[in-house]
Amino acid sequence: MNDLILKDMLKARGLRATASRILLLNLFNTDHIALMHSEIRSHLRNKVDRVSVYRIVAVLVAHNILIGFVDNGGNELFILNRYKEVAEEIVPLVKCENCQRVPQLPSLPFEYEMILKQNKLSKQPIFHGLCTSCQV
Ligand SMILES: [Zn+2]
Repeated sequence: MNDLILKDMLKARGLRATASRILLLNLFNTDHIALMHSEIRSHLRNKVDRVSVYRIVAVLVAHNILIGFVDNGGNELFILNRYKEVAEEIVPLVKCENCQRVPQLPSLPFEYEMILKQNKLSKQPIFHGLCTSCQV
């Protein structure tokens, strides 16, 4: 994903495409990569200060550009939202236990999502397993 696509993604959600936001989003260019706050901070060390990293991540999550979730180990991770436009939508995820990549699953059927919303789901549903590349 190049900077132009990232800029469009930010603008489409009513956000300014600042240099810091672009730098941060570029960390998610590897397919299905999931990063913790500490990893994001370490990658952006000397480029974006710690407080700004927290603020940017919060804004990107609030605008549904990044998706935050908690894995089995209790780590809070973030991935780039590659599909969804609607902020309230529930995004099912699969985390590979070997390579740690976290692909998004296709959208849930409407009725299914309505029921989950009625139950005030507090976290993104996440499945754990082995991705097809790691099954060899
Ligand atoms: Zn894998």
